[in-house]
Amino acid sequence: MQPIELPIATADRTNTLQTFLDVRSALPFTGYQLSPWLGGRTEGLRRLASFDVSSYARTRNQVGPASGVSLLGPYIRHGLITLAECRTSAIRKSGGNPPVKFLQELAWREYYQRVYAQMGDAIMAKNIEAPKVELGNLPLPDDIRFGATGLACIDENINELRETGYMYNHARMWVASYIIHHRKVAWQQGAKMFLQHLLDGDPASNSLGWQWIASTYSHKPYLFDQGNVQRFSDHCSRCSAARNGSCPFREYIDIPPAREFSKPLPMAQKTESVAIVDEGRLPDLLWVHGDHLDVPANTALANHPDVPAVFIFDTTLASSRKISLKRFGFLYESVSESFQRHAAGGTIYVGDPVEILSSIADGKHIATTATPAGRFYEIRNAIAAAGTSVTTLMPPQFVPDTGAVPNRFMKWWKAVEDDVLTLQPRLLS
Ligand SMILES: Cc1cc2nc3c(=O)[nH]c(=O)nc-3n(C[C@H](O)[C@H](O)[C@H](O)COP(=O)(O)OP(=O)(O)OC[C@H]3O[C@@H](n4cnc5c(N)ncnc54)[C@H](O)[C@@H]3O)c2cc1C
Repeated sequence: MQPIELPIATADRTNTLQTFLDVRSALPFTGYQLSPWLGGRTEGLRRLASFDVSSYARTRNQVGPASGVSLLGPYIRHGLITLAECRTSAIRKSGGNPPVKFLQELAWREYYQRVYAQMGDAIMAKNIEAPKVELGNLPLPDDIRFGATGLACIDENINELRETGYMYNHARMWVASYIIHHRKVAWQQGAKMFLQHLLDGDPASNSLGWQWIASTYSHKPYLFDQGNVQRFSDHCSRCSAARNGSCPFREYIDIPPAREFSKPLPMAQKTESVAIVDEGRLPDLLWVHGDHLDVPANTALANHPDVPAVFIFDTTLASSRKISLKRFGFLYESVSESFQRHAAGGTIYVGDPVEILSSIADGKHIATTATPAGRFYEIRNAIAAAGTSVTTLMPPQFVPDTGAVPNRFMKWWKAVEDDVLTLQPRLLS
């Protein structure tokens, strides 16, 4: 397939919409609307500046307008702002006193990224541990997919996800728990629905979030009752099931323990090549991907302002997964802004990254920024095997490397806590 070059996005979102509709046969996506959330580092920094961290710990469990969460997820996930920038801003706003709860949530992201780097793409498909309760294996039914279960705490949050690409953390927990434990759907099916729509959809945080709810990466399943929904949202006031006594969450459900409870599952360690290769010479081209779209997260862009960049909407990946237009639009706005700021500019393509990079970089040298994603290594290794040399640079670190990651967050937290909660972490390797 011939690569398609996209223009750099402007503020005119009608053009953005048309640009995607024009390439839909090459780049399949679901839906017809862009998200109301604007892409780009500028918007991420604006949100970071206006975020009131002082009310975070008290209100983060609320779902809806009363919630004081940062709404930074998509900007962090795509490398538009870094965890270190969020930490600096939050500690300064708190007059030097670290806001522990918020910083600990940033650390959860870092922890999941490290688990992903250690275990690879298997975390998206396989149980990490034996489940502690009986799990089902059903496909995702349409009433859940389209937010039509008749339960306000489920439907309103799924509809918000479908319309905006965002869902509050506590609502993610309710929806995932309902899907897995009440409807006996395979957690992988629910995780796929989230990845289709979430602007912050991330292989690590999403899969491990679902596995945590399922009890395949935690000591017990996450279950909730109606009292929890009433305390942290106003969904029940609009719910006929809550009014007429048919709410399935009136009481905690009783799920029998899994028969295989004591059997540990063999968890394959990552097998693909993850070597960080530094060719030690100046690149002719920078390959930017969706995990680090802008500086300072993208070390290649930050180190080489005079080298032109390229970003590719991956048609091979898009054909094998459902991805919503909201997600593509967010990426497009974000990378366009990044390339407008990058001194040597950049080009945006739609096509297969291996084919495009191999043809435009023939005999040249590419630099890129490392990420744990399996598809990244697949592409990088294929272009290297075809004769194009690639330097893979490390992104800026949030906390120092601590070696093998333990199987529970709190064990890892003990090793990094002092570095997370300070403006001056230990020297990063
Ligand atoms: C089933 C399930 C699926 C999830 N899928 C994703 C996903 O695909 N991508 C994703 O980034 N997060 C995911 N999360 C974690 C969390 O829900 C989101 O990070 C958070 O809701 C983003 O909103 P915020 O920026 O307003 O969060 P805030 O509460 O303001 O937190 C600030 C930042 O800390 C990080 N963070 C907070 N909570 C978590 C957490 N539990 N795990 C990992 N990082 C966290 C995020 O980067 C977040 O942006 C999932 C959680 C669950 C239970």
